[in-house]
Amino acid sequence: MGKLSQADEYLLAQVRQGQQAAWEQLVQRYEGRLLAFARARGGGNDAEDLVQETLIAFLGALDSFRGQASLETYLFTILRRKVIDKHRRGKLSLCQIHDSPAGDDHSAGVLRHAAAPEPTASWYVRQDERQQLQQSALATALDELAEGYRQSLNFRDLKVIELLLYSQLRNRDVARLVGLDEKQVALIKHRSLKRLGRAVLEALPDGGEGPASDALLTQVWEAQRPSCPKRSTIGAYLLGTLEEQWHAYIDFHLNTLGCRYCLANLDDLRRQTTGSSAAAAHQRILQSTVGFLRKA
Ligand SMILES: [Zn+2]
Repeated sequence: MGKLSQADEYLLAQVRQGQQAAWEQLVQRYEGRLLAFARARGGGNDAEDLVQETLIAFLGALDSFRGQASLETYLFTILRRKVIDKHRRGKLSLCQIHDSPAGDDHSAGVLRHAAAPEPTASWYVRQDERQQLQQSALATALDELAEGYRQSLNFRDLKVIELLLYSQLRNRDVARLVGLDEKQVALIKHRSLKRLGRAVLEALPDGGEGPASDALLTQVWEAQRPSCPKRSTIGAYLLGTLEEQWHAYIDFHLNTLGCRYCLANLDDLRRQTTGSSAAAAHQRILQSTVGFLRKA
């Protein structure tokens, strides 16, 4: 996923100027997947409210968003926080929350049981300069690492890294899930961390104070989602038109890893192909958020 795409950047610039058509386009582009995410966590009638609140919060924080993440990831992050807040206020029952280990989440993946990191929206805006350098170097290095594995169709190593860094599983559990022995997993981990560590050291003017912590790696991973496939790839998976190796990998990402963001995209794409109309929801969401669009 990585950082802000050019298309997003262009759209965002227009939204910042208060252009209503641009806002409508942004809402249209993201509401389906956000609704799917909210439905999976909050359920039913609350989903639309949560998405509206998310979009309003997004407009309110427009000035502080510096494009360190894709728009999709940023919106998911705000929404996730809204879901957690709502749960804390007792509006949602505990079993609907993804982050509860006892939760009955619709995703069957290992992420359900992983210690889920919680980057808040403010994580994107409140950082000192050094942290910023470190995180951005790490984000770039993670992107390159994942892209390298994809380019060479090395899905084995990509899966290992996802399970280690994103799910924070132990080597033993990773080995079992991908059908390797523990030594192989340890070697892949060692190689990858070395590459990441080098990239961070090179980015800091005075060198670093050693390798990045696992928590930071996971946080940056969650904020960048370097291994998440494009939405169009998830669409191709749904249609069954991907090459076999890719299909197997996307299947792993969705069903074994249980990436909640990609699952939300999958659910949204499924609804679109089954023809269920979202036009009424779109109008409601648009009407309730457009008033918060500021004129430049
Ligand atoms: Zn994903």
